[in-house]
Amino acid sequence: MVLIDAAKGCATEPPNLDVYPADFVVCSFYKIFGYPTGLGALIVKNEAASLLNKTYFSGGTVAASIADIDFVQKRKSIEQVLEDGTISFLSIASLQHGFKIIEMLTTSAIALHTSSLATYVRKKMLYMKHRNKKNVCIIYGQEASKVADLKTSPTITFNLKREDGTWFGYREVEKLASLSGIHLRTGCFCNPGACAKYLGLSHSDLVSNFEAGHVCWDDNDVIKGKPTGAVRISFGYISTYQDAEEFLKFLQSSFVSKPIASSNGHTLSMNTLNLVDNQSQQVVPDVRLKSIIIYPVKSCQGFSVQSWPLAAGGLKYDREWLLQGSGGEILTQKKVTESFLLSVCSTLWITPQCCPKS
Ligand SMILES: *Cc1c(COP(=O)(O)O)cnc(C)c1O
Repeated sequence: MVLIDAAKGCATEPPNLDVYPADFVVCSFYKIFGYPTGLGALIVKNEAASLLNKTYFSGGTVAASIADIDFVQKRKSIEQVLEDGTISFLSIASLQHGFKIIEMLTTSAIALHTSSLATYVRKKMLYMKHRNKKNVCIIYGQEASKVADLKTSPTITFNLKREDGTWFGYREVEKLASLSGIHLRTGCFCNPGACAKYLGLSHSDLVSNFEAGHVCWDDNDVIKGKPTGAVRISFGYISTYQDAEEFLKFLQSSFVSKPIASSNGHTLSMNTLNLVDNQSQQVVPDVRLKSIIIYPVKSCQGFSVQSWPLAAGGLKYDREWLLQGSGGEILTQKKVTESFLLSVCSTLWITPQCCPKS
């Protein structure tokens, strides 16, 4: 027998049961309208109903019982057997408003809207490149869209790569997204089978990840250089083109390496510097360079070098970055005096551990 978990699948369009015949289909209403949570539906083919032999004995399921002998008659119809206890009548009452919206917009318009947004974002993501021309986004399940009867899904599942080919962990993406006010889903999406298939994780990878301490919902997003899950964004009837642009802007600014202001081929060096008078073109005596200090991150500690390449704006990387607070405000030493304790390691990771004394 076949059960389709259409909780996500029918968020924008109901599954086509002519193409995918099923005996049971489950769906979740908040995935369709956004409200109410905790309420879904089980749709049962009449012929399959007799298989659902629920033994629950309580309010709503009993037609008759006699207290002091072993006599009980269950209610007969499938919904009476399965809807035990007090049903969520307040939530159920609110469903009509959700259905009204869907009927007003029509599912075909919703599917068209969400798939055009997803197609647009998917294309932009595929073209997104680091400065070394390497791809930023690895999108999973694209081959599905080549199946003629499957329309473009409103969902994009992906992972992000750094310039050097290593992965950004999905937790890192999720945390940065939430700082930007973007809600996305990460992990394996209740679907361990697809997760292992698309991430190329073998049974022994999965077992050794578990033995290494990885469990669902934890922070172990990359183990032995391989992602343990992915990132997923979905568009619904409420999503707008601005939402799509906002998401792309977030990817661009948080994960894509930008072209560096290219060095003009000149280097400032402690022993090569002569100060030349502009007018006389004579070397000025008694003026010497005492030190060269690079401050890559504004208001943080710098580091001293013997020589350093020059770029269009001056010394390469000098004050090229700054710190932002979680609200987007720029942190300077005037505002956060501790920022001067942050130093910059050679790999340009900012970490307080870089300065052991403080
Ligand atoms: C959301 C989801 C569920 C769970 O539905 P709830 O109503 O949140 O319990 C199950 N399966 C899939 C594929 C889902 O996307």
